[in-house]
Amino acid sequence: MSYIQFLGAAGTVTGSKHLINTSFDGDGKKGIQVLIDCGLFQGQKEWRERNWKELPISAREIDAVILTHAHLDHSGWIPRLVKEGFTGPIYATSATIDLCGIILPDSGHLQEEDAAFYNKIKKSKHTPALPLYTFDEAEASMRNFQVVHAGETRQLSPEFSFRFVPAAHILGSCMVEVTLSTGGQSRRLLFTGDIGRVRDHTSAPGKVVHSGPHEGEIADVLVMESTYGNRIHPHTDPRPELAQLIRQTVERGGSIVVPAFAVERTQKFVFMLKEMMEAGQIPRLPVFCDSPMAIKAVNIYLKYEDEYSEEARSLIRKYGSPLEWPGFAFASTPEESKKINEVHYPTIIVSSSGMATGGRVLHHLSQRLPDPKNTVLFIGFQAPGTRGFNIKSGAKEVKIFGDFVHVRAQIVAFEQFSDHADPPELLEWLRTFKQKPNVTYLVHGEPAASSQLRDTMTKELGWDVRVAEWMQRADVP
Ligand SMILES: [Zn+2]
Repeated sequence: MSYIQFLGAAGTVTGSKHLINTSFDGDGKKGIQVLIDCGLFQGQKEWRERNWKELPISAREIDAVILTHAHLDHSGWIPRLVKEGFTGPIYATSATIDLCGIILPDSGHLQEEDAAFYNKIKKSKHTPALPLYTFDEAEASMRNFQVVHAGETRQLSPEFSFRFVPAAHILGSCMVEVTLSTGGQSRRLLFTGDIGRVRDHTSAPGKVVHSGPHEGEIADVLVMESTYGNRIHPHTDPRPELAQLIRQTVERGGSIVVPAFAVERTQKFVFMLKEMMEAGQIPRLPVFCDSPMAIKAVNIYLKYEDEYSEEARSLIRKYGSPLEWPGFAFASTPEESKKINEVHYPTIIVSSSGMATGGRVLHHLSQRLPDPKNTVLFIGFQAPGTRGFNIKSGAKEVKIFGDFVHVRAQIVAFEQFSDHADPPELLEWLRTFKQKPNVTYLVHGEPAASSQLRDTMTKELGWDVRVAEWMQRADVP
């Protein structure tokens, strides 16, 4: 018998890792062992410590990894897996591989910086503190990647084949349809990875990738994300409110600082600003994108035109690459970044990290937060405990680079920019299934979100839905 074991993203939203084992047939013969996603645990210490725990099977015994998309919580443990002896292929779409090529080495660089910091303050339990993996190790792990295009079927063994279908979450993102043929029968497993917005651009404005996950699915076992299982996105168009906010900030002589993740969210926001400027909804302010990773990501986006939404495609057809738009400056070097601090007229600064936990945005926040003329605009999820969460929750001061910084700027948050479908959208997508799965396991959600989505799906669809537990083995009958 085959089974799925949930090695991560069970009871939390990070560390996605689901092992499929087809060898459990009682005769001692080894079948094939495949990991769907290989993500990093992030957030609270209790979770991060799991990055250092050994997997229940040796990395050497895993035959292949199939990666849904490039976000670190799905891909960020790959260099560690390779470091521990994994030598097999990592299958991903071409865009996912390109994005991993910038995201994984950057993660290795941050791991090295963190280790160096802990060694300096001698606060680690381990002496010396070590990085989970280095920049070089992350780069080396890229050699294991192999391109599989969406829609193409790949046979990994006589009993195991898979194909990618679009998930519409970020550039390159796909779900994984696995077909297991053992004991004379065939079963379909569907791993959703993260699921993008289901409705069109008015409810997900500025969307860069096309809208809507692949419809008409068939699955015997569905393993599905539940990040937004207990929250509903506002479905209003944020543009009129955003335009008003930008105009008011400019009228009082202030600037707008936007902490944003460098991949997808920055592109989405920049595209929307351009569209609003061209439509005359906001003044033609200078826009600074201060993130080297965002620049690299823009170039990757330009390579994959067929993944754009119609809106994004027509903007590029009309105005060319965002890197060359007049009035839009992309800061690559630290010197270019520092120059933005000398700008004293109204401007928009988009910079990472998205939750203000690190990165160049900290310089812009420490400089602009104390002045009530300015506005800080959040367009992404702020995890509890992060600096972004504290600012958004009304903290009067926050600590940045060891100093307390007063928060006097106007603080505003928009919830419409999410790249995850909410429950009404998920139900809309699930209703397109050609048959009801025998069982659905919910992963990638906080416990309250997963259990609420389980209840909603049971009530609305009558499906057998369970919340996956960490390390649980689920038989595939
Ligand atoms: Zn994601």
